[in-house]
Amino acid sequence: MLPLTSHARPSLLRRLNEQSILRELQARGPLSRADLTRLTGISGPTVTRAILALLEARLVEEEEVKQGLVGRPGKIVRLARSGVTLVGVVIGSRVCEVVRANLEGQLDLDSLHTFPTPTDYRDLIEAIAEPIRTWQATLEADILGVGVSLPGLFDTRSERSITSPNVPQTNGQLVGDDLRAALNGLLDVTILQECDGLGLAEQLYGEAKGERDFAILDISEGMGLGVVERGHLLEGHSGLAGEIGHITVRLDGRRCGCGNHGCLETEATDSALLAIVAQRLAATQPELLPDEPLTMHWLRKAVEAGTVDVTAELVPLIQYLGVALAAVINIFNPKRLFVYGLCFDLRPGLFDDVLAETSRRALAPSLRDCTIVRARGNKQLGAIAAAIHPLTQRHEPT
Ligand SMILES: [Zn+2]
Repeated sequence: MLPLTSHARPSLLRRLNEQSILRELQARGPLSRADLTRLTGISGPTVTRAILALLEARLVEEEEVKQGLVGRPGKIVRLARSGVTLVGVVIGSRVCEVVRANLEGQLDLDSLHTFPTPTDYRDLIEAIAEPIRTWQATLEADILGVGVSLPGLFDTRSERSITSPNVPQTNGQLVGDDLRAALNGLLDVTILQECDGLGLAEQLYGEAKGERDFAILDISEGMGLGVVERGHLLEGHSGLAGEIGHITVRLDGRRCGCGNHGCLETEATDSALLAIVAQRLAATQPELLPDEPLTMHWLRKAVEAGTVDVTAELVPLIQYLGVALAAVINIFNPKRLFVYGLCFDLRPGLFDDVLAETSRRALAPSLRDCTIVRARGNKQLGAIAAAIHPLTQRHEPT
């Protein structure tokens, strides 16, 4: 079999039959050819041709399996576990991560490359590209694509970062184009707003597998919202939908990175809690503060050790989180609402308290329809989901 170059893949993947097969394998796991024919609604001979093309591109593998105790051996098709890899990039306000995963979304944590987020934009792009270029040169597996989880407002049509209160060095930059250029134009790069990435990861690999109507609220560094409605990510006219974090909830609140005051993001996120606790400790117990900025990991340890008490700060946090969750439920009527945040680990029962506050504020019929759970995914998986997204999604006519 002649190995196909990565240049052959984009034209292959524009073919809808191949995309349909990849999508079914992704959603359901390994399948027989007969199952693929039935599930995709594509004719048997066409499925066979498409699988052949996918095998040649090394995107799928076939395996001989025994069917039942006395059944004859048969072949199943599954997403490739070797020979190809995906790269995920998480851009965070303080730390960036670059990691590889296979097509089934299993992260290779030995490959994880972590570095402090450079404050200069050019340095940031170069720091991300450097480990990927090394992998290009040394890995036997082909890199199928690079997915990037980017915080802030991101215009999906122009691929321009509009404004990112937490990573302002990306403001106005064409992150996708610049990263593609730094990788010598050899790799596909897909950027997703970080919350959209979390939502997609939950849909592909997490508890939202197969769900068509759900929302994910990210309350970690900033506050982001991803909404999947009838199987499609709600993007808005230019990809800016879902910016719930910059709704004003407190007229005299603290200044937000967006320029406004008292946004949900400055009242009801992990970062907001850390800022408020840091301010109080600086005024009352400065000796407790570490040299580095506070992290949720540090705060959890301090609370567990009994050196810091956050009871007072948690009261408004729970109230404003109730406002945020109720807003999502009232506006989007999701079947499931996933919430991603680390503050819930600060004490047992905190998430339940937020649910109780939400139930006081949400419209009863919408709340009855909705299950609210903590998200299991993470931003690394969100970036990997961004990398695999173009391989499996139909390109809708524009
Ligand atoms: Zn704001």
